[in-house]
Amino acid sequence: MARKLFIAGNWKMNLSAEQCTALASELAGSVGSDWPVEVALCPPCVYLSVVRAALDGSAIRLGAQNVYCESNGAFTGQISPGMLVDIGCDYVIIGHSETRHTIEPDEDDALINRKLLLALDAGLNVILCIGETLDQREQAQTDSVLDTQLTAGLANLQPASAETITIAYEPVWAIGTGQTATTDQAQQAHAFVRARLAELFDPVAANGIRIQYGGSVKPTNAAELLAGPDVDGALVGGASLKADDFLEIIKAGLQNASQTSGTAV
Ligand code: PEP
Repeated sequence: MARKLFIAGNWKMNLSAEQCTALASELAGSVGSDWPVEVALCPPCVYLSVVRAALDGSAIRLGAQNVYCESNGAFTGQISPGMLVDIGCDYVIIGHSETRHTIEPDEDDALINRKLLLALDAGLNVILCIGETLDQREQAQTDSVLDTQLTAGLANLQPASAETITIAYEPVWAIGTGQTATTDQAQQAHAFVRARLAELFDPVAANGIRIQYGGSVKPTNAAELLAGPDVDGALVGGASLKADDFLEIIKAGLQNASQTSGTAV
């Protein structure tokens, strides 16, 4: 099955309202609606509406960086999946390593699974982030960490909903560090994830699920990192804050896809 290239920008806690508008407008004017790529921007939640307005009429999708695990009620400071839909979001990132390890250290796989099921139920597409720490990689635990995070994170998900999920393989040691996985390390992890998805769902569903790579993707390494047959796109942090860099990453992905028939539509 052909999987459409998917490049998402995670702006994290950066930019002002004015800068969000400028960046989103520039990208909206640069990414062709007929390009065979899906592009999403994930600004800070307070700027979702601002970016939604700047993207009006463009094919670029809007995503949030996190969501709460309840639909409504007395949860001060939190944002529900329904609110994200209401404001025009198509995507939400769940289980980002900065959330798992630093911001919400009590965000375990069970909580991630609650968020994911509720988000899907509200009509959002989910980018589920998984990845091992450096220590875990050095202890040869990468596969078992990915297995646990996938199995628990996707618990109770129906195969019919699988197509609304994107997995972002983000080795924790590569996020914001300038270090990246090699092409082989990325492909190996992605192939493992796809094989596990086939066991959790079925091979057809697994073949349709996009697996992004994330971790210091830049214009200079994007072509290399996106070269593996199971690498279907990228979740980009720092380099998504500059329109030129983000566009170069998108173009590197498109170039790879056009050279590898069958990996993109
Ligand atoms: C991310 O935030 O998901 C990420 C991969 O960040 P960076 O590209 O900056 O490493």
